[in-house]
Amino acid sequence: LPEPIRIASPIVRRLRAHEFEAVFVGGCVRDTVLGLPIKDVDIATSARPEQVMELFERCIPTGLQHGTVTVLYEGSGYEVTTFRQESSYEEHRKPESVLYITSLEGDLLRRDFTMNAMAMAEDGELLDPFGGLRDLETKVLRCVGDADARFQEDALRMLRAVRFIGAYHLIPAHHTWKALIRHRKLMKFIAMERVQAELDKMMAGAAPQRALYFVGASGLLLHLKEPLTEDALLALTNACRTAESASLFSRLHQLSSLDLRWAAVGIGLSLALEDILHVMQVLRFSNQRTKSIAAIFAIHKQALVLANQQDEQLLRLEWIKLIIRFGESPAKEWIDVLRVLTGGNLTRLNGCLSRFEVWLNEISISSLKQLKVNGSELKKHLRRKPGPWISDWLNRLLVEVANGQLVNDKQQLLKQASEWDKEDTNDE
Ligand code: ATP
Ligand code: MG
Repeated sequence: LPEPIRIASPIVRRLRAHEFEAVFVGGCVRDTVLGLPIKDVDIATSARPEQVMELFERCIPTGLQHGTVTVLYEGSGYEVTTFRQESSYEEHRKPESVLYITSLEGDLLRRDFTMNAMAMAEDGELLDPFGGLRDLETKVLRCVGDADARFQEDALRMLRAVRFIGAYHLIPAHHTWKALIRHRKLMKFIAMERVQAELDKMMAGAAPQRALYFVGASGLLLHLKEPLTEDALLALTNACRTAESASLFSRLHQLSSLDLRWAAVGIGLSLALEDILHVMQVLRFSNQRTKSIAAIFAIHKQALVLANQQDEQLLRLEWIKLIIRFGESPAKEWIDVLRVLTGGNLTRLNGCLSRFEVWLNEISISSLKQLKVNGSELKKHLRRKPGPWISDWLNRLLVEVANGQLVNDKQQLLKQASEWDKEDTNDE
């Protein structure tokens, strides 16, 4: 048995020693069967939450309304959930309250897909009433029970279906897919935050391009609670569905960060800045994520223009100004994104990439904070009245230092400023 399961086994044994039933359930069983790394180890038990809390010294009542207690053990947290049946679903979402039951099979019955409805005893014995193992072997995603009913109960399951199909290289069972298409309009009942969470998991997973394909093929995005712009919808729905687009996104998984993958999708689909901003707003991306993805995107738009520059000196200067404007990290991230998208295919922009990278690495400073002179020193040295000239000249000094024309030394910088001052007075 995999290490994380073995480490958690004493929790299951302790529950069983007290005459309760207890098993591993959900993703950890599925991933054990597949020999994949395990994310979180979840336990289901016939014990009520208060009984679980009595048995373990350190626990947090993380989701009592769902029957879940997090048991802290050997430095990790384990969700221990009482066997339950979901009470009636409202508005096609998970119910707020649950009914505790005594049978494991009843608990497995409420789960979404056969591969997620297997349980495992602590000795490794598999309890698989719905044929999850067979479906995994034949790579089929199948709803537990009647697919129509299951998607109607909880519409989020449709997005989960697409995510599992993508990440585990599955093919949906005929009925499951038919039902998903039939009920996709129910997506409008799902909070946009939950949509974001699922899409993020898809993008962060092992095969984001496959997930994109099935997101498009399912048409789920056409029925969100808050609509995307038409251009964004069209682009996202067609992503990965032509050979050209599929090859563009075929290396998406090589980007290690989730948000770089999102930036790559926006760039790869040639979305307009306003469309990508709108997508992120509708999906409730945090301001920080929006800002960092938008910066990569903006660099891309400007770099496209830059790539027309024939003069090498000017190209370097303009690139350095871009770095100063957006920051070294976003510039580096944009290069990473573009490498993955183009896979070395020679485009005009791609032809510039290596030089951009060299110049980025050569740059000594890229922000005013790093400049060895500040506004008040400049003002005092030149005995000039304050005004917009201060920030203009600081930026000019910064560009020259970054471009290697000036040394970042206070005396040298002040000397250069004095010369500009002289030129200014001569002009007048
Ligand atoms: P992941 O690897 O993404 O964590 P997971 O299968 O563990 O996948 P979780 O969201 O952690 O997914 O849920 C744990 C288990 O709870 C699932 O395996 C499934 O049995 C059940 N489950 C989760 N969400 C739903 C749902 N919306 N409807 C029915 N069952 C669900
Ligand atoms: Mg999980």
